[in-house]
Amino acid sequence: MDKTYILSVPEEYQGLAREISMVSGKIYSKAVNFFKRMQTKGINVSRKTFDQYMEWWLHQKSFKLHSQSKQAAYQQFWTAYQAYLKRLQKAKKKGQDTSNIRPPFRSKKYNKVVFKKSAIHFKDGDLILSNGKEQAPMVIKGCCLKGAPKYAELIFHQDKKKYYLHIVVEVASQSCPVCGSKNKPENRNYECKSCGFRYHRDGVGAINIYRKYTGSLSLVVGLLACPTGVRYTPHLCCPIEWNIHPVGKTA
Ligand SMILES: [Zn+2]
Repeated sequence: MDKTYILSVPEEYQGLAREISMVSGKIYSKAVNFFKRMQTKGINVSRKTFDQYMEWWLHQKSFKLHSQSKQAAYQQFWTAYQAYLKRLQKAKKKGQDTSNIRPPFRSKKYNKVVFKKSAIHFKDGDLILSNGKEQAPMVIKGCCLKGAPKYAELIFHQDKKKYYLHIVVEVASQSCPVCGSKNKPENRNYECKSCGFRYHRDGVGAINIYRKYTGSLSLVVGLLACPTGVRYTPHLCCPIEWNIHPVGKTA
């Protein structure tokens, strides 16, 4: 399961964000123009030809953007075009009117910038988004993400008139505290597909961390911690052994 973090781009990078969005827009628009031209000539373009043409064109230019972000910009058009073809085919099959189904031939002045995994790094708690060798990276200070980023997107939020980063993070599977099989939590809930055990996601994480450090295998979920002394010393920590309730001795 993936989780998306939305972070606002710091003020000092708003200008850079705009600049690279414009580069992404230029690349996207080039893809649009190429397809338009091919369509008027009645030429069907294969994915391979498209990729080769775009890479050849990019090679002549010196756009300051990570090479994989450039690639993502023109592939976005490919995806949009394929979706259009599918829609068209479906409508034709059903005998519907297709005159209002138009190809995605609108060029874009600005386009979202995609940062692939290889363009995302961490250094001393800062998130670094690479823009290639010739352009400064974007540095988000003190960024705390839970999990490994898969990719990020730089998107302009119309309502806030600002650029934001949507960072997609892979949520790791957690082992079930009861049977040990691995499951990915959904939202805040953890449900084991093998034994049906259900609990709050963070609770499962806590149990697993507890076990990792105590080596305890006999913890039973759902029992209360030992209450001795809590009333008079609210922040009292009891010894670990007090919290271990062996299975079968819970009554
Ligand atoms: Zn289980």
